[in-house]
Order: sequence, then C-alpha cells, then structure tokens
Amino acid sequence: MSSLTTPITCRNFYAGTWHDGSGDVIERKNPATGELAAIAPRSQAGDVDAAVQAAAEAFRTWRKTLPAERAGYLHRLAEECSRRVDDMAAAITREQGKPLNEARGEVRKFVTALHYYAEEATRVFGRTIPNDVGGFLSIVQKEPIGPVAGIAPWNYPIELIGWKLAGATAAGCTIVIKPSEYTPGCAQILSECVQAALPAGVVNFVYGDGGTGQALVSHPKITKVGFTGSAATGQQIMRSVSGITALSLELGGSCPMIVTAKADLAAAVKGATRRSFRNAGQICIAINRIYVEQPVYDEFVSELAAAADALVVADGIKDPDADVGSMTIDETFQRTLDHIADARKRGASVVAGGDRINELAPGLFVRPTVVADTPDDALVMSEETFGPLVGVAPFTDLDDVIARANGVPGGLAAYVYTQDTRETFALASDLDFGNVAVNNVDAGIINAPYGGRREAGFGYEHGPEGLESYLQLKHIRLHHGAR
Ligand code: NAD
Repeated sequence: MSSLTTPITCRNFYAGTWHDGSGDVIERKNPATGELAAIAPRSQAGDVDAAVQAAAEAFRTWRKTLPAERAGYLHRLAEECSRRVDDMAAAITREQGKPLNEARGEVRKFVTALHYYAEEATRVFGRTIPNDVGGFLSIVQKEPIGPVAGIAPWNYPIELIGWKLAGATAAGCTIVIKPSEYTPGCAQILSECVQAALPAGVVNFVYGDGGTGQALVSHPKITKVGFTGSAATGQQIMRSVSGITALSLELGGSCPMIVTAKADLAAAVKGATRRSFRNAGQICIAINRIYVEQPVYDEFVSELAAAADALVVADGIKDPDADVGSMTIDETFQRTLDHIADARKRGASVVAGGDRINELAPGLFVRPTVVADTPDDALVMSEETFGPLVGVAPFTDLDDVIARANGVPGGLAAYVYTQDTRETFALASDLDFGNVAVNNVDAGIINAPYGGRREAGFGYEHGPEGLESYLQLKHIRLHHGAR
C-alpha cells in the first residue's frame, strides 16, 4: 500500500504516457484533516487537445479490435486494479472522506464492472431484415461512436469514471476522462493500471476544473459526452457541446422513500439509515425525504433517530470501519447546515444530530441528522441536500403521497417499503423515477439499466444499455442477387 501521508502527484495521461499540464496547479486537501492529499494540473485547452488527438488516433485501431480481444484487455485492467485496491481506496478516503473500508468496496465494485463489461463486449449483435424485393438483404450492424469524453463528480470518484470507461471501451470507443478537481489522486492510480493493461491512447486522463471540462466537451473530435454531476453543470454542457455530439446526463435530484403501515418497519428503518447516511449522504440516489403512513409514523421516527445516533462518525483513515466519514467539499457541508436551519425555522423537530461535530473540526463532519414533522416546502423535502440529513413527514392517503413524492423536477430513484401486493404495484408503477427499489435500498446493480428522468437527466449506465449508448447503427443494404 502506498503512503497514507505523501500527497499524490497527478499528471495528465495520454498516448500511453504522462505529461505535465500547461496551467497552474490544483491542490486538493484532505477534508477530514486539511492536509495536502493530491496535486494536479489545471489543464488548458492545448492539454485537452493533445489528449483528444491521442484518443482519436487510438480509435482508428481500437474500433477494429475483435470483441474477444477487447474483453481480454478489460479483464486485464480489472486484474491490475484488483492489485491496487488498497492504494486507490486510500487515495479516495484522503481526498473524498468516506471511510477506508467503504472506499475499498467502491474500488471492488469498479473491478466487477470491468469484468461485466468485458463479457458484454462479446454480446453486441446486429440483425438482418428481409426486403420487399428478392435478391436484397438489409444488415443492421452496431459500430462504436468514436472518441468519448467522460466527466465525473467526486462522490464516487472511481466508480463514476469506471462505468464510462468500461462501457465505452467495451463498445470499441476510446475515451478522455476528466476526473473531479476534488478527487484527482485516485484517478492517477487508475491511470497507472491503464498503462499496464491497455494499448496507448484507448483511455486518457486530463485533470482540471470546470474550464478543462468545458474545453473537453466542446472539442470537435469528441463524438459523445458521458456526464455525471449536478443539474446546473449538465445544463451548461448541453449548451457547450456542438449540436452533433451525443450526450448522456446522469444528474442529481431529490429521492423519496415511502413507508406504508403494512411495511416491515425494522427493515424500513435499516434501509432508511443506510441510504440516507452512507457516504455522508453524498449519493445521487440518497434518500432525502421519507413519507411514513400515520399509524406507524411515531415508531418509525423514534427508531430512525436511534439508528442515526448509533452511527460512528470518524476520520475514515484512522477508523476504516466507521459508518460515516468527513463530507467532501465546503459547499455541500454548508448547504447541509443551511437545510437543517431551514427545517428548524419551518417548525420541523431535529430528532437526531443537528450540527457539525466540533471536536472533529476543521474536518467537515456533520452528525447524521433526522428532522421530523417536516413541511413539504422545507428545502430538505424539495432540493438535493447531498449531506447526512433526511426529512420525515407523515401521510394518510396513498395517491396523495405519490403526488408529493413525484412533485420534484428530477426523477432518479424512489424507495418503497410495504408487504402489500396491491400497494407494491401501485407505487412501483406510479412513482415517476428511473429506479424504484421495493423493500430494499440498493437501486443500482451493474447488470440493470440505471438512469434518471426529467431534470435528473437522460441516458443509461449499467447493463447492456450502458454499452449501447456508445454504439451507433449502420444499415447495409446488400444486393446479392440470389433468389
Ligand atoms: P459538478 O456538476 O459540480 O461537477 C461534475 C464534473 O463536471 C466535475 O468534474 C467538474 O469539474 C465538471 N464541470 C464543471 N463545470 C463544467 C463545464 N462547464 N463543462 C464540463 N465539465 C464541467 O458536480 P459535483 O459537485 O462534482 O457532483 C455532485 C452532483 O453530481 C450531485 O448533484 C449529484 O446528484 C450528482 N451525481 C449524479 C449521479 C447520477 O448517477 N445521476 C451520480 C453521482 C453524482
């Protein structure tokens, strides 16, 4: 395992080797301690251009590799990454804040995604279509779309790069990745695995901030942008790409959970605790707001408060098994405190947590917080907090609560707890979200499509759909003359 104290030096990686950037340097500090964790270039348009040219050059040969060959390369990359799980995990914890064991889990899931897409690469099929006139045949074949830009946020810095990298390269595309400016160090380690496993130019990295990302998505040789991040940046990217660049947007939103009187309440409390506070609530599919049917409301609130109070919050390097680590950036830390203050002001009661943990300052630690009797117009019930805070409110009518759950601009994930079949089907069908998890809180699995609706974006990652989005169709109409 590499050092837990030496800052990681990141260098742009393209055409199979590392390069200095031409801009100034970004210093990323550990949000738990304030210590320097990584330094990375703030890449300029010229750096981005060099990386895209490398991806475009490599595309000429990578697109022609046989699917089984690509599968072999991706399995090899998975093996390289398996060897570096501890290094990547330590880098994640030092710059992102989640506890070390949780970070190890993230890297292992990325390794699984690489193996999965290695296999999917061999399952891309076309079709034939009979023609209305004899002697003709139409063949529909799928081809890689071209060099791709992958732009990722900081909350799952390896997995969210990984889904793009794996789907795109399995499809026969090459990719230029811009990691988040807050989590460059783990990407540097990933680039070392890439160098050991893949041909030059297939996967490339440029570091930098939004300006670097802007130069990348608007580069004329980029044929597709795969973006995960905030709705505001997603909208900015829609304006920046040229009209002929394909685009998929995985954005944020406010995710509801509905617990009916017919639920297994203990299971619902366990699920709510996990999905509200894991990764300090910094998950696009985190539960933001919980609606509980009146007869079981008081019991649910007191058990959720007790479960939140029992979570261990600590520096994730010193306590690898902690439940919750430091938050990652000042902006969402402050927004969490603002949403707590707003809920208080609107009459909600804080039944667990409620403030930063002063003993762990200057680290960005917030006690897991539950606010009960929260009105629908409170910020926590309508906006994405992206922190360890959840609002709870009672309901009495199923149709009414479905309308309240759907009444937000984005639709990424919703959660339901009930043991009743009719309620299960009514809720699963009427919740207007791309993912609905019933009696569990793991809405995303690698072999099923994962995407949002409305302002939560469009396009899919995971599953065969996560590879299809990097393919384009070609219709070949063949006159062979045989009858
Ligand atoms: P962000 O939008 O601020 O940044 C995401 C990435 O975009 C970063 O790499 C950033 O440098 C880059 N960027 C910024 N401006 C850009 C521009 N003009 N052009 C190109 N790139 C630009 O998001 P964040 O704060 O890093 O991440 C948190 C957000 O991500 C939350 O809203 C969360 O819900 C969302 N998210 C969504 C999913 C999902 O699957 N739907 C998953 C994780 C996170």
